[in-house]
This record gives sequence, C-alpha cells and structure tokens, in this order.
Amino acid sequence: MIEKDKVVQFHYVLSDDSGQQLESSHNGSPMAYLHGHKNIINGLEEEMAGKAEGDKFIATIPPEKGYGLRNDELTQRIPVKHLQGAKKWKPGMIAWIETDQGQRQVTVIKMGKFMVTVDANHPLAGRTLSFDVEIQSVRDASEEEIAHGHAHGEGGHQH
Ligand code: ZN
Repeated sequence: MIEKDKVVQFHYVLSDDSGQQLESSHNGSPMAYLHGHKNIINGLEEEMAGKAEGDKFIATIPPEKGYGLRNDELTQRIPVKHLQGAKKWKPGMIAWIETDQGQRQVTVIKMGKFMVTVDANHPLAGRTLSFDVEIQSVRDASEEEIAHGHAHGEGGHQH
C-alpha cells in the first residue's frame, strides 16, 4: 500500500479540464517517485495514498493542489537579450531567465524588437488537471533514496 517512504512506479495520462491530452507516460517507462517527499504535485500525492499495485483511477486536481493559481503580476516586459535557450523566439516558446531567485522558466507571449512580454506562471497554473493513473509497482524505499528524498532506478533519478 502506498504510504510515506514507498517508491511508486505508475503510468499516467494527463489531460486538462477540456479533455485535451497534455502528457502521457505510456510510450516510455513509468514514472517513479518517493511518496511523502513532495516529488509530485500535492493533489496527486494525496490521491495516491492508500492505493496499491494494479490499481487504476482518475484523479481530478484543482489548481490549488496542482501548479497553483495564475498570477497576472507574473506577466512582464523584459529585454529580449535576457531570454536564454534559443536564438530566435516566437510566442508560445519556453525560455529561461536569470532572476534574484535563480533561473526561472517563462513562456514568451509577445515579441518586440528589443522588448518581449513573458509569462512566468507555470504553463499548467490555473488549470484543473485530470490524471488517469495505473499503479505499476509499490516497494519500500532504500535508505539512500530516503536520504536523497527521491526514487532511484527506472523512471526515477539516475545518478
Ligand atoms: Zn538520489
């Protein structure tokens, strides 16, 4: 059963509230995470608790328990030269910028010649998410995994 310090491998299909599929793990290896260590979004971790190998379920996660609500103040105009990650930029592309808190991912909204409007909200902020989950395996974490705070091996951290 899934509880703190278990390593869980699962397949998932992520859809938004209009039913559009955003991501799927089914064409690759299952995702692995260490339960109880905030490796995955809060709402999904809550739904996983108490489930077992072989369980299938759909979890609907509101933004507050997913990637947060959208904050309109995170949309700003910055110099184009601050964008990192590509040479040419188009609306919809994801860029990195340096901030006081380190690197941050932003979405390009509108390009000008010297200035660009970017949105620093997580791309899934403000969205209600639906995860169609299949639990593949549940096992005890190793001491090393608990010390690192994440799962090792297939679908987890490889180091
Ligand atoms: Zn590790």
